[in-house]
Amino acid sequence: MSNIANVGDLSISTCIECPAHTIESDPDPYDDFCDDDIKIGCKFKKDCYSTTGCRPYNAKKESSVPDWCPFIMKVENAIK
Ligand code: SF4
Repeated sequence: MSNIANVGDLSISTCIECPAHTIESDPDPYDDFCDDDIKIGCKFKKDCYSTTGCRPYNAKKESSVPDWCPFIMKVENAIK
């Protein structure tokens, strides 16, 4: 089961759909064919990534909302 984050009016299942996502270069040093790999981070969590070493065309498939997403935690806390 994948996580869902409620960010403003958006209900999303991947970080790439979220306005808070960041994209950084993450090339594979041992594979020239993966020079353009990326990692997808979050403006709210320093040094946390929903995916690393990701082929750009797989960004949506590999960036499921992580358990540490601050917007999931808020929803969970609100239910308690
Ligand atoms: S972790 Fe949550 S807030 Fe951060 S980019 Fe992903 S969905 Fe958005």
